[in-house]
Amino acid sequence: MNPRDLLTDLSRRLGDPAMDAAVLGEGNTSVRDGDTMLVKASGAVLGEAEPGDFVRVDLAAALALIGDDDAGDAEVDAFFGEVAAREGRRPSVEALLHVVLYEATDARVIAHSHPTAVNALLCSERPELLVDGALFPDQIVALGASPLLVPYIDPGLKLAREVRARLRGHSERHGEPPAVVYLRNHGMFAVGANAAQVLGMTAMAQKCARAIIGAAAVGGVRFMPANEVTRIETRPDERYRRALLAEEGAR
Ligand SMILES: [Zn+2]
Repeated sequence: MNPRDLLTDLSRRLGDPAMDAAVLGEGNTSVRDGDTMLVKASGAVLGEAEPGDFVRVDLAAALALIGDDDAGDAEVDAFFGEVAAREGRRPSVEALLHVVLYEATDARVIAHSHPTAVNALLCSERPELLVDGALFPDQIVALGASPLLVPYIDPGLKLAREVRARLRGHSERHGEPPAVVYLRNHGMFAVGANAAQVLGMTAMAQKCARAIIGAAAVGGVRFMPANEVTRIETRPDERYRRALLAEEGAR
């Protein structure tokens, strides 16, 4: 499937009301394509996505902008304006977050959404319940053992710079980047090899959030023991299952 059709299909599935992950203009998707990414245009509705709803952004140029300490809102506006002049539409304001995630990972596809149950936790007093431990083995297989939680920061250049720094810190601590990034009072990013994988990750995060909220209602959340989490992460059969999930989506 060509990148534009892949992204259209992924967006419609992510924006399907059954996913409960995005309404109106919420959320965005992207696919890495060589040195560029195709990313949702500002204002496009995921559930009604058309192949023309995506614009191409040069990753190196966007990273240079993010890394330029002298750049501010005016420079971002000019950069997005150049994309619009070439592609006909401006990228989503969250496009810069996709850029720093592609830099930090070898992901091919990224899905950003605001799932209701995930946001119930991200907008609560205890958002760290999403990252402090694992509830059950399938959570670890789908989402990894070390997701990243980022505090609320003004969307745009400032948030992209902060996430970039936190991704570097996370990779240094854990030896690899996170598969999922949660943004407090905002939503989540699922980073993966293909469309099926990031959709599955979004659904699994939603399921985990519901389980956490349910567990909190019946006495409190009890995470799996840390040594059992490591065991699931490193078991050959679970690694096999994870690889299989990624491959299935590629077909
Ligand atoms: Zn968002």
